[in-house]
Amino acid sequence: MDNPWRDDDFSASSACEVAPYEILDPERLAAESSDLQTFTKSIAELPYDPESWLLRARCLRLLGFPELALGDAYKARLLVEASQERSSPLGKKAFLALCDKTRLQHETDPRLAAWKHLVSTTALLEKRVVAELQELELQVWSELMEGLMASNACSDYLTLSQEAVLRFPQDAVFPSEVLNAKSWFKQRDDILREQVDAGEMSEEKMQATLHNGGVYPVAYLWMQEDFVSREDSFLDRCKKEFSVRSTNSTVSRSAIRDLDAEDDAPSSGDVLGAFATKGIALADTVLVDSTVAGVTSSAERCPTCCGRITEEILNDCCSVPYCSPDCSKTALDTFHASVCGKDFGFLTSAAESAELTTDLSLDSVLLLRVLALSMQEPTLHPLKTSLLNRLTPTYKNDELIIFNFPDHIVTPIRVLGELGIDVFANAAYDTWVLHTIRCRLQNNKHGQTLDGFPGTAVNPLYSMFNHSCAPNVDWEHGDSNSTLRMFALRDVEEGEELFISYIRPLTMDYAERQESLLPWLGMECECEQCKAERPPTEA
Ligand SMILES: [Zn+2]
Ligand SMILES: [Zn+2]
Ligand SMILES: [Zn+2]
Repeated sequence: MDNPWRDDDFSASSACEVAPYEILDPERLAAESSDLQTFTKSIAELPYDPESWLLRARCLRLLGFPELALGDAYKARLLVEASQERSSPLGKKAFLALCDKTRLQHETDPRLAAWKHLVSTTALLEKRVVAELQELELQVWSELMEGLMASNACSDYLTLSQEAVLRFPQDAVFPSEVLNAKSWFKQRDDILREQVDAGEMSEEKMQATLHNGGVYPVAYLWMQEDFVSREDSFLDRCKKEFSVRSTNSTVSRSAIRDLDAEDDAPSSGDVLGAFATKGIALADTVLVDSTVAGVTSSAERCPTCCGRITEEILNDCCSVPYCSPDCSKTALDTFHASVCGKDFGFLTSAAESAELTTDLSLDSVLLLRVLALSMQEPTLHPLKTSLLNRLTPTYKNDELIIFNFPDHIVTPIRVLGELGIDVFANAAYDTWVLHTIRCRLQNNKHGQTLDGFPGTAVNPLYSMFNHSCAPNVDWEHGDSNSTLRMFALRDVEEGEELFISYIRPLTMDYAERQESLLPWLGMECECEQCKAERPPTEA
């Protein structure tokens, strides 16, 4: 698996040299949380009213979720801009929402009674709303900048503040934002340059760190129990998948992370794991794990399996070629209906220039694929759909995950729009859902290089194997497609849990292993080898 924090090309610690989040006192926290509910309700009632999105953005930022604040502020911006134009269907809806709200406020709010005459005719009301929109637009841009600062996205902050000065030449505040952004950028540049000069950081890593921000992966306050644990019916479904693809293993609840498992009590946790259902001999195949959730930088390969296409197989619906009749049928049965006839050239052309399997453009194509898959199970919440429900994220609150405005806000919202999802009215694909999907993918995807083309994939059964520093299973990946073969590294007895190693090389010592594993496990490794090698803690 790729390191979820991309240690190779991004330095999370040095991205965070701004002030840490302001920790709200309990009273303030309660007030902001209650506001959050109020604004979420107003968004549900009036999804095209930019003001509700703006208000919720501010609230989310104060609560410490700048990645969500930016999603809301960006939606507010799209609505404001559309309603200023008023030519698109979205613009008409947004303008109407604002008119209705303004009229209602003047009719019902006693404090506005004296100004009722200002909205007494349609022409007056519209004039009033146009003026409000101008004011709102400035607030939206300011909120975007606040969000970029809070998400450590110094380079995006600089870009946006410069755009703001060009767009609002009369505004007195934005030029000072540019100065602020420039001095922050320079400060970061200087710090990183010193590290490069001292040989502590590569030039590539420096550039990535300079141009990206970081946010914390968190289980949001409002994620019900539902979104953090998996029910038995889901487990049964996974068992069926194992039974189709493996003759000697299955999935079950694992006690690996139960710290109090001394008494042999059954696991109450939500960790799933793979187990041998019979003895497996060294080098025997455990399972062959194919996936439709794989992507590659090459536009010439099969969309389903990422394999080479020697003879083009087409479906009736469009001219997308596949490598085999199986792949063309699988595409129709799984992800293709969501994307057929839609233009995602902006994603695939960016991915074509990817040089590394961790390139963010490949992540965006993978996101498109998992969103497309989730849409084919419309009765389920996206996070509960077959693939996404099985992927567990690591929530470790003091490690940043790479973040920037174009890749993590603008592109996903555009992708949803192209998929035909109304990002304003459809709360199932709210920014917190997107960010949660991203954290889950980050923790479960692995790089795949096929005939020299970088790519990334999530394999559905592979993702259920837990880690051990003394693994009994390994996996191999050919050049041909996204399918993995998992095989035994030693003789395994019936009933044993099957483990792979998330890290390489296997020869690392105890301390090195803990450091490498922390991003995945979020705690010390509890495998048998680590338990045996753990230095005694001082009492
Ligand atoms: Zn194929
Ligand atoms: Zn088609
Ligand atoms: Zn271990």
